[in-house]
Amino acid sequence: MTQSSTVPATGEAAGGQTQWSPRVDAAMLARLAARAAVAPGCPDAPVEAPFTGEVLARVPQGTPADVGAACAAAREAQREWVARPVAERAAVLLRYHDLVLANAQEILDLIQLESGKARIHAFEEVLDVAIQARYYGHVAERFLRPARAQGALPVLTSTRVYHRPRGIVGIIAPWNYPFTLAIGDALPALAAGNGVVLKPDAQTPLTGLWAAGLLEEAGLPHGLLQVVTGRGAELGTPLIEHSDFIMFTGSTATGRTVAAQCGERLMSCAMELGGKNALLVLPDAPLWRAVPGAVQGITSNSGQLCISIERVYVHDAVYDAFVPRLAEKLQALRLGPSLTFADDMGSLTSAEQLAKISAHVDDAVSKGAEVLAGGRPRPDLGPYFYEPTLLAGVTEDMEACRAETFGPVAAVYRCSSVDEMVARANDSEYGLNASVWTRDVKAGREVAGRIESGTVNVNEAYAAAWASAAPMGGWKQSGLGRRHGRHGLVKYTESQTVATEHVLNIGTPPFLHHAQYAAVMTQALRALRYAPGIK
Ligand code: NAD
Repeated sequence: MTQSSTVPATGEAAGGQTQWSPRVDAAMLARLAARAAVAPGCPDAPVEAPFTGEVLARVPQGTPADVGAACAAAREAQREWVARPVAERAAVLLRYHDLVLANAQEILDLIQLESGKARIHAFEEVLDVAIQARYYGHVAERFLRPARAQGALPVLTSTRVYHRPRGIVGIIAPWNYPFTLAIGDALPALAAGNGVVLKPDAQTPLTGLWAAGLLEEAGLPHGLLQVVTGRGAELGTPLIEHSDFIMFTGSTATGRTVAAQCGERLMSCAMELGGKNALLVLPDAPLWRAVPGAVQGITSNSGQLCISIERVYVHDAVYDAFVPRLAEKLQALRLGPSLTFADDMGSLTSAEQLAKISAHVDDAVSKGAEVLAGGRPRPDLGPYFYEPTLLAGVTEDMEACRAETFGPVAAVYRCSSVDEMVARANDSEYGLNASVWTRDVKAGREVAGRIESGTVNVNEAYAAAWASAAPMGGWKQSGLGRRHGRHGLVKYTESQTVATEHVLNIGTPPFLHHAQYAAVMTQALRALRYAPGIK
């Protein structure tokens, strides 16, 4: 494991202001904190810079009353927003796309400073937000256009289906992808005509505040997107009470609590939850691609990625060629805290993460697992660094076997058939993402069809399915609903069917008896069964 030689990010006094990077200083961070939708004078809490453990900034801790006020203000702004043509709303997204790319260096610094991830992994967030902004900017008008539907009676009924915004979308976002999972979900909600109240995670509120400010620069009306900072346990319930739809990304445990509260209100929600994702190396896998693919799947954002790989099932025919190469590549990754693209992997995000990941590995090792790569914290690099780790011999009695580790730790398993690989991949309470490696793409798709998971990537670890304009989400305990693609926009609307009846009402007309009407309709139904164009 090599170490970055680049100077670590550290708070240095520059003219009385802490200078974290050429682009992020204390004054800029204070301006971001001041954007939070909270009452003046409320208490604040520190946001830590995981690279060093120092305090990066102090951010207000909102109250339930702040959430209520933010939802009311967003609702007020939404009345004017929904009246605008969809094309005008979509144009804001396209301008945002350009602004995100123009300001990429600043947001990369900020994401890295508050999450501790490597710059290349922060860049994945920039890519993703730009893709979502471009996609929804281009398709919103088409997907939201009213559609004709077959009427109750041919010719006599004309029916249209409209997509009406839900009103206020509450977004509860986690800390691991603070740009993607906050703003990537807000963009389609806004394009659909909603107001949004975002509650970022308390560990990473600054990115959400920055992103909201940039949206106003792109032309979003002031107040339409509110960001309330503070603790999820305190702000979650009021946000659910004052919203019309909840988009939640986080752990399965919290997702259950949030879904239950939405259920009490009979309010729709979407949940993107945990995963224990499997990667299958088939006997004909191209190892020169599969090895780096697995490395990326295990180590992206130090494994703190819902769709990352934690279980690797390798066919016996290639096990001895694949596994040592994977261990070697993981071992060779460059770890460090630089705000440049020098490093392959950054830090974990918090002391809690370090404790949990160390506990999973230590538990496995104490019960007999073999460490093929990594397996140690790296305090010499920063307080929460942990080596990319490959384990063999993981068994059911070990925590790392079934529970989501959410770190750069994967277990390899030798399998004697593809059927066994599929069965073991499916033997999980989760079903978020999977990855299949083979030279035979058709066979890869067939194997994918047998895997119980919302996305399956053939010859890729996670990014191909995630970044496609296609539904993304989890089966089983990994979620409810989907983001991305058409569904990722339309879910933020209520459908409304408007049917107009011409000439005659539906029912017995005044010139017939009920029995005559029933006889006429029976004949009509028999004829319609064969009428061209009638479904
Ligand atoms: P978490 O559930 O602890 O927190 C997620 C969010 O919920 C945070 O904003 C938090 O403040 C808030 N929250 C906490 N308690 C709440 C409550 N009682 N009511 C309402 N909100 C509350 O999750 P985490 O540890 O921050 O994130 C990691 C988890 O997220 C992992 O399990 C990971 O797999 C999952 N995740 C899933 C996806 C996906 O797309 N499926 C993406 C990223 C992360």
